[in-house]
Formats: sequence, structure tokens, C-alpha cells
Amino acid sequence: MSHPNENIVSVPSFWDNVSSARSPASRLTDSIRAEITIIGGGFTGLSTALALAKAGKKVAVLEGCVIGWGASGRNNGQVIPVLSAAEPDAIEQRFGETGERLVHLIRDSAEYTFDLAKKENIECEAEQTGWFQPAHTPDHIRISQQRHKAWAKRGAPCRMVDRNESVKMLGSDKWYGGMFNPTGGHINPLAYARGLASACEAVGVQIFENTPATDVTRSGDGWIVHSENGEVTSDAVMLATHAYSDAIRPQLSPIIARTTIPVNAWQVASEPLSEDLRKYIVPGRQAVSDTRGDLQYFRYDARNRLISGGAMIFQQNAQERMKSIIGKRFTDNFPALKDLRFSHVWSGYVGRTVDGFPHFHQLGPDYWAWTGGNGRAVALSIALGPKLAKAITGTSQKDLSLPVTEITQIPMHFIARRVARLALVWFRWRDGQPPKIN
Ligand SMILES: Cc1cc2nc3c(=O)[nH]c(=O)nc-3n(C[C@H](O)[C@H](O)[C@H](O)COP(=O)(O)OP(=O)(O)OC[C@H]3O[C@@H](n4cnc5c(N)ncnc54)[C@H](O)[C@@H]3O)c2cc1C
Repeated sequence: MSHPNENIVSVPSFWDNVSSARSPASRLTDSIRAEITIIGGGFTGLSTALALAKAGKKVAVLEGCVIGWGASGRNNGQVIPVLSAAEPDAIEQRFGETGERLVHLIRDSAEYTFDLAKKENIECEAEQTGWFQPAHTPDHIRISQQRHKAWAKRGAPCRMVDRNESVKMLGSDKWYGGMFNPTGGHINPLAYARGLASACEAVGVQIFENTPATDVTRSGDGWIVHSENGEVTSDAVMLATHAYSDAIRPQLSPIIARTTIPVNAWQVASEPLSEDLRKYIVPGRQAVSDTRGDLQYFRYDARNRLISGGAMIFQQNAQERMKSIIGKRFTDNFPALKDLRFSHVWSGYVGRTVDGFPHFHQLGPDYWAWTGGNGRAVALSIALGPKLAKAITGTSQKDLSLPVTEITQIPMHFIARRVARLALVWFRWRDGQPPKIN
């Protein structure tokens, strides 16, 4: 993969080496007509396009680079039916009945993601082995209990795992039990995105790749989405560019770009583990991400590589430093992994919002956008597709699961995005403190 803009993160993702190749669709070189135009070919854009096309709509997708170029093809592939910051109580308190529907959507999002892969024959190394969130201190088990109570109350099939079971589950005594949700697991995310694109094409979605949208203008009752060599006129538009909103054509929607801070997150893939080690370390192959703010997380890929990652305050010599940071974490947690070697390092933008909530916006009549995956929206962005499709096709706000909010731009966004990584200092300090329980 190459990227048209040298300034954005352009290290290819490991997943590119292990996913079936996709020949990019052609560029847009004409003036065409569709009912709905979607900008961005990641999970959100593609799952929305699929739902719309299945409802009989004529849909065009414009992807500025290639399918899965953004976070969707670069992430850790953990399918998690929980958000990273916004808890169910807080979502419902803030958004009332719509919040309740959003919580249900999140609760069911992992199941939806795996079901869709089956239904559409998406070959993506899917393993629905569950998602485990172990507590990183004995005190943090109270956070797990609180979270478990909140989700169980809303019908999530999660359960608490005690310390003994956790040691067996992980092959490590460095965690203290935690919440387990059997609907989670992991996928090869780029293969999923490519499979979703093929499913879209099979039901008539017109995908254009290497076609950055440059502007969206009003035309009569509809919209024109412009690109360098062509344009699409349609009744409705969905902006699904998320943390990459100003990465390719910053002028496209500065207003949406400034609602979110794109934070560069690093990923590593290890050499494949021997079968002896694999049987001992996370033998059940769950996706694991713990209770830290400076998150420790890992999962196996289909070749028994451990895929993990983290963030760094300073980006100098990032690839080598990331290997050594994650190598040390693995050795501390699993001494048997002291000789683990990493073959690939890559990165992508996580879209952080100031309040940690996802945000749904209406930029004009029938012009929609969302952002705020906050590093945990593989399942959410896939499950959102049918809901966004409903919004786009005119379902009334009172029946939607999407709390549509006013756009709040982050003051001094230019500076905020440069200093956002300093939040890691705060996360690391807070990880060492007893948790606050409400
Ligand atoms: C390193 C990393 C690890 C992560 N790990 C996990 C995880 O394990 N589990 C989890 O739940 N979540 C994880 N996430 C978050 C998750 O990947 C994202 O929330 C999700 O993929 C967002 O999908 P999306 O379709 O909304 O955005 P994206 O996949 O980012 O898609 C946006 C697309 O818009 C395109 N675009 C931008 N500008 C234009 C333009 N002008 N014209 C046309 N196209 C344009 C981009 O090229 C891109 O393809 C991770 C994220 C990162 C970066």
C-alpha cells in the first residue's frame, strides 16, 4: 500500500502481508448519480453501504486511498462489545432512551460482527474465543466487578473470572481476575474490511478507490461530493473518515476533524510462537486487554503470532523502541517469552474525543458523520452500519440508537493533537493509584 500524502502515517500494516490481495477499484473520473454517497472505506463506511444497498439503495463509496487504509486495516483486531471510556450508566444518563438503545447496540456489537462475517462469507481468520479484561491490580478487580454488574444488568452474557481461573486463562499470575465476555474475540481486520468491500460490490455498491473527496456542496435538495477528477450527486452523504478526517484532504471537513484528536497508536507482530508456548500462554486464544489506561493488550493471529501494541509520548526511533517496550512487557508478564522477537511494527490513528464518548452529527439535511471510536470500535463501527443506514434513510431521531449531538470543536486543535500523547503520563500515574468507584 502507498499513501498519496507523505505526511500521514504510512508504514504498511502487518495485516497486508497475510490477507488475500484486493485489486483496488477504479478511481472516479466522471460525474455520476447515486442515492447516497459515503466518504471513507473503513468498517463504518462499508458496513453502512452494505446495509443501504441491501435496502435497495444506490450507493457510491469514495475511499481516498485503498479499502482498509485507515484504522480498520491497521488495528489489533480485538472484537470487543464494550467502549474504552464511556460506561453504560454514563451513556444512559446522558442520552436517556436513545442512550439505552446505544448501550444495547454496543452489547450486541461483537456478536453482530462475527455473524456478519459468517453471513457474508468474509474470510478474516475470525476466532470468537471471547474477550477478557483482567484487572492489573487487586484493587482494580472492583472496577471489573462494577463493569460486570452494569453489563450483566443490561443482559450482556459476561461473567467474572476469579484469580485462579485468570492465571490459567492467561498463563500468567500478573493479573487478578476480571470480566470475561464470550461474544468477543478477534479477526484479521484488513481481511474483514476487504471482505466487506466485496460483499458491498456483490450487492451493487459502486466503490471508487484512490479517490479523495475534496469538498461536499449543497445542490438543490441534495449534495455533490467532489473529487479531483469526478463528482457524485446524491440525496444524502455519510462522512466516515473518522480519525483520518484531515489526513488526506484537510479541507474536506475541518469542522468534523476538529472534534477528534487523532492519536498515533503502534502495533507489533511477533514471530510465531512454538506450539509448546502457545498451549501454555493464553491457551484459549482469547482477546485480552487489561484495566490499565496505558493499556496492555494482545491476541494471537492465525499463525500464532502475538499481536500487541501501545502508545509512546515521543515518536523518535518509534519502531525499535516499540519492539523493546512490548518485548519487556511480555517478558515481565510471561518469563517464558524472554526470547520473543518482533517481525513487524506499524501504526494508525485512534480517534479520541475529549469526553471519551462516540459522537454522531448531522452536518446538514441528510448529511451525517460520526467519530469517537476512542480506540475501541471494531465491533461498534461494524454494528453501526444498519443504524446509520436507518438514519440516512429518514428514520426519526426518536427511533434511532444514535444520540445526535451538536458539534463541539476542540479548542486549539492544532496544538491539542500535538500534546495529546502527554495524556500517557496521566494514564500511567492513574494506573498505579487505587481506582475510583462510583
Ligand atoms: C492501531 C490501532 C489499534 C486499534 N485496535 C482496536 C482493537 O483491537 N479493537 C477495537 O475495537 N478497536 C481498535 N481500534 C479502533 C478501530 O480500529 C476504529 O475505531 C475503527 O476501525 C474505525 O473505523 P472507521 O471506518 O470509522 O474509520 P477508518 O477505518 O479510519 O476509515 C476512514 C477512512 O476514510 C478514508 N478517508 C480519509 N479522508 C478521506 C477523503 N478525503 N476522501 C475519501 N476517503 C477518505 C481513510 O483513508 C480511511 O480508509 C484501533 C485503532 C488503531 C489505530
